[in-house]
Amino acid sequence: MRLHEYQSKEIFTEHHIPIPLGRLAATPEEAKLIAEELHGPVVLKAQVLVGGRGRAGGIRLVHSPDQAEEEAAKILGQRIRGVPVRRLLVEEAVNIQQEIYFGMTVDRARGETLVIASAEGGVNIEQVAQVSPEKIARVGVDPLLGLREFQARVLAAEIEIPRTLWRAFVAIALNLYAAYQDLDATLAEINPLVLSAEGRLVALDGKIIIDDNALFRHPTFFDKRDLSAEAPEEIEARKFGLSYVKMDGDIGCLVNGAGLAMATMDIIQSKGGAPANFLDIGGGANAEKVTAALRILLADPQVRAVLINIFGGITRCDEVAHGIRAALEEIETDLPFVIRLVGTNEAEGQRILADAKLETAATLSEAAHMAIRRAQAQEAPV
Ligand code: GDP
Ligand code: MN
Repeated sequence: MRLHEYQSKEIFTEHHIPIPLGRLAATPEEAKLIAEELHGPVVLKAQVLVGGRGRAGGIRLVHSPDQAEEEAAKILGQRIRGVPVRRLLVEEAVNIQQEIYFGMTVDRARGETLVIASAEGGVNIEQVAQVSPEKIARVGVDPLLGLREFQARVLAAEIEIPRTLWRAFVAIALNLYAAYQDLDATLAEINPLVLSAEGRLVALDGKIIIDDNALFRHPTFFDKRDLSAEAPEEIEARKFGLSYVKMDGDIGCLVNGAGLAMATMDIIQSKGGAPANFLDIGGGANAEKVTAALRILLADPQVRAVLINIFGGITRCDEVAHGIRAALEEIETDLPFVIRLVGTNEAEGQRILADAKLETAATLSEAAHMAIRRAQAQEAPV
């Protein structure tokens, strides 16, 4: 679960990491009021859970409360990468002398947390990492020892932070690591960590991602989950205990199990097709669950054909077949379906599908091939 910037900054404050003064606004009038309180120029920042806000016009520097109201009205009516902006963070503007990158994430290959810093932070950090990787300093953290002070000093030296600010930098580094650990985060990032003209280090932007598997340990965030900023299909899927992933192709896939979903995607791709999405219905496949899954899957206008790939283990094929048939009786659709159903009680399942005049395939390879052909046929002019 990705936290909003303002939530990340609340955590920074709890962990004594300095941030600019500011508050959230939901209306232009509120933005004006906050700008009046702050005196002087302020920055309006759209609170949406998508990257690259700055470049998409979600961040504006304004010089008066009236201008804050006017610009806030524009940003609040806007969508950034499809996500409507409902709230703004209104903050005092900072005079930036240097933008530093500072962050930490799980390095799966090394099996430890990697702490990363660069003297050239800001919105182009990905480019810096690609073009001049030598400008990125890293240290690995032993999970038993945690981030050590000397490691933070090594980073400070490597990215040439002025000596007078080492103490402040080390404190921020250790405090961010503490927050990262307390929250079971998989990422904690300050970009930019700004060296201000007044000679202070300030966290101008924050991004924290909490491991979904640990969310139950952080009920406050779970309850504050901002559904309005997430994809509606994914929210709907979660309600039924399904996992939904949206992609760019034209074949909708209904699968049981994450591994089988991956294999299905791979086979479709290897045969020259492209999945539009996949829905993992997990274990069990009663009519209610299959119906909900198909509804979500078919709501995607890019879908031209549906591939259902189920392996009946504990879930029996006849149960699944009943579920599919019941779902298709309830949902009206003209789209072609291809079903591959194997495993426990396979013969009985196949019979139910055949009775319902549904097209089945014997192997996954054949099913993928048929689904791709059906999708292509849908696109051809009649
Ligand atoms: P992001 O695009 O979502 O990463 O948003 P950021 O909060 O990181 O802001 C993007 C960029 O806007 C920063 O790298 C700064 O260059 C600029 N910016 C943000 N806040 C301020 C500010 O208070 N003063 C100035 N001068 N620039 C700012
Ligand atoms: Mn940023």
